[in-house]
Amino acid sequence: MSHSEHSIERDSLAYAIEKHVEVHAQKCYQCGKCSAGCPVAEEMDLPPSLVMRLLQTEKSSNDDKVLRSESIWLCLTCEMCLSRCPMEIDIPSMMDYLRQRSRSEKKVNPKMKNIVSFHKAFLHSIQYTGRLFELGLILDYKRQSLKLTQDMMLAPKMISNGKLHFIPELLKDMPHITKIFKKTIVEGGSK
Ligand code: SF4
Ligand code: SF4
Repeated sequence: MSHSEHSIERDSLAYAIEKHVEVHAQKCYQCGKCSAGCPVAEEMDLPPSLVMRLLQTEKSSNDDKVLRSESIWLCLTCEMCLSRCPMEIDIPSMMDYLRQRSRSEKKVNPKMKNIVSFHKAFLHSIQYTGRLFELGLILDYKRQSLKLTQDMMLAPKMISNGKLHFIPELLKDMPHITKIFKKTIVEGGSK
């Protein structure tokens, strides 16, 4: 369903999702195939089809539930839901937008603190080196989550196995990566 067929509340989360990632929540007809195929649906407080249902109501109390949910942080971006959805609704891209939005509105579910730290560290690694710099990622995660000593004994072994790299290899096209991050930070209002 397009904007012309359904007048969508302009201050709703569904509207923002349409605008930023072109996912139309109103197209979902609640067949449940996304939730049935999602590998982490059982761990989620709101399985993906329920997230869609809440967004469809365009009520701010339900938008709030979505932004404060654990589900948006548990999503693995595996795209199983997308491959099964008869309406080709891009739930993974939507989840990514919801994570940025949840952070910028300071609505991150407190139980998800460690996952959020990992998410931030992952984005920093890509932002500053253009690729995943494993040692940097671990140190940044430790800093963000303040778990400074846990697992650190593993690092020397991983370094000698060649699994961790001290110096990040910079991508040749870093200006392009920097541009993407600048655009995302400006649009999403989050770092
Ligand atoms: S992308 Fe996320 S919501 Fe979709 S199936 Fe994978 S984990 Fe579940
Ligand atoms: S598979 Fe697609 S149409 Fe079915 S419930 Fe999930 S999002 Fe909605």
